[in-house]
Amino acid sequence: MASSSSSVNLMPEVAAFLKSGPLGGVIGGKQVAASNKAVFTTVDPGSQEVLAEVCAMQPEDVDRAVQAAAAAFAKADWAKLPPNDRGVLLHRLADEVEKRKTIFAQIEALDCGKVYAQAEADVQNFADTIRYFADMAQQVQRRSALAVARHEAWTVRHPWGPCGFIFPWNFPFLLAGWGIAPALAAGNTVVIKPAEDTPLSTIYLGQLAKEVGIPDGVINVIPGFGEVAGAALAAHGGIKRMSFTGSPEVGRLVAAACGPNLVPVKLELGGKGAALVFDDVDVARTADKLVEAITFHTGQVCCDATRWLIHEKVYDQLLEACVERLKRVVVGYQFDSATQMGPVVSEKQRQRVLGYLERGQDEGAEALLEGGEAAVPGKNGFYVKPALLAGSLDNVAAREEIFGPVAYLASFRDEQQAVEMANRSDYGLANSVWSSDLARAHRVAEAMVVANSWINAHNIFPHGVPYAGINKSGMGGGVLSIQTLFDYWRSMSVVRPL
Ligand code: NAD
Repeated sequence: MASSSSSVNLMPEVAAFLKSGPLGGVIGGKQVAASNKAVFTTVDPGSQEVLAEVCAMQPEDVDRAVQAAAAAFAKADWAKLPPNDRGVLLHRLADEVEKRKTIFAQIEALDCGKVYAQAEADVQNFADTIRYFADMAQQVQRRSALAVARHEAWTVRHPWGPCGFIFPWNFPFLLAGWGIAPALAAGNTVVIKPAEDTPLSTIYLGQLAKEVGIPDGVINVIPGFGEVAGAALAAHGGIKRMSFTGSPEVGRLVAAACGPNLVPVKLELGGKGAALVFDDVDVARTADKLVEAITFHTGQVCCDATRWLIHEKVYDQLLEACVERLKRVVVGYQFDSATQMGPVVSEKQRQRVLGYLERGQDEGAEALLEGGEAAVPGKNGFYVKPALLAGSLDNVAAREEIFGPVAYLASFRDEQQAVEMANRSDYGLANSVWSSDLARAHRVAEAMVVANSWINAHNIFPHGVPYAGINKSGMGGGVLSIQTLFDYWRSMSVVRPL
């Protein structure tokens, strides 16, 4: 088995990790093979070289993982730890992730095709998220006295138990942090199903957890296929809370599987974000930012600005500035320092992007920038060029999530029309408004039917600001804020008549 992408100067730890395959799941602190010995391979999207063999967990293995998480929870050496002691262990995990930033970032960049500097930023974000929730859990009051006549009464918050997490392939490590950090800080145990395209950083995390002293069974990892391992986890009656990040189609299946068990489920789904650009913007700066947004991780970003709604007075000027910039974007291998946009994650994803370009034009969209496959000398990866389409918002490319570096443009006359156009979507994730008139920017930001509105920026996620989705973009709460921590405690009341 080839152990690494041949042209990258890998850290010895990364080479050894990849060579140690087939990489098992992590269940109860042990690395385990699938019960039927099934394996799959994961490849470097930038070269198609095989990176590692990975064990494909089966329903029996998922069951073992949930039982391990339940046993670790019941033993109470995690759930009942004083929050500051749990915080010490979580800080140790964050510190060790940070110390091994290069190792994690190489693994992530190889597995996802993510530009190396972005992979490093994702690793830092993971460490920051763990610390953010570990510290918050130590400060939050879990017991509140209630002032009720003739009764002694209070509420108290307890962790739920084993929590299930299913993640997508676009930000495997960063999203793992957003998901499990509040659950762990609150005292729950977790079972993580990473995406089959990008399981490596999560498996490495599972191994590291043991090294830093997180008790066995607190963090379990079950790599495998969605329809097998993912479906078994979603339908498992031993899970007390479920969190799914991915497509609306699979989100519905996960929610349906949780239904019979009455397991609360949090869904973070896709999007079709709009950027509303008014005629008082700095055109050059806005063009820089929009181009940065649509090429960030090759457009494989749920909340990306994929519909550019532009005031008719600046439409031509902004379009020209964006086309000029997009033509200069360097598409290349994720480890080349000149690369601005890496590959998409798989051939399936490349065909999805190319298919939408074709279907959009078949339905009458105009290609303002053609896009298509990109060639990168010496690399047989899944590369595409950025593309711009324009036309009716009823077009398939304007309505559906493409998940590639493709923006769809339309112009508007006034604020009312702009808001109406932005809200013409089944999704409700994140939009942005661009204007130097802050009164208008605030008004428009609040008028959009999404869970997140950004002003003069796109794709921003400061810790402490809730990030969620509504409508086809999600349900059940969000991530990254104090509310997320509360989601991972069940609340009970205690009352005594006086
Ligand atoms: P996907 O829905 O195909 O897969 C997501 C995960 O679900 C994977 O781990 C997969 O193995 C698993 N899965 C597949 N079938 C399953 C089943 N029947 N039961 C249980 N699990 C199953 O999504 P993807 O292609 O990996 O990711 C892209 C999608 O994720 C896009 O729609 C994107 O917008 C969305 N996303 C949303 C957010 C957010 O925060 N809202 C963040 C990142 C990605």
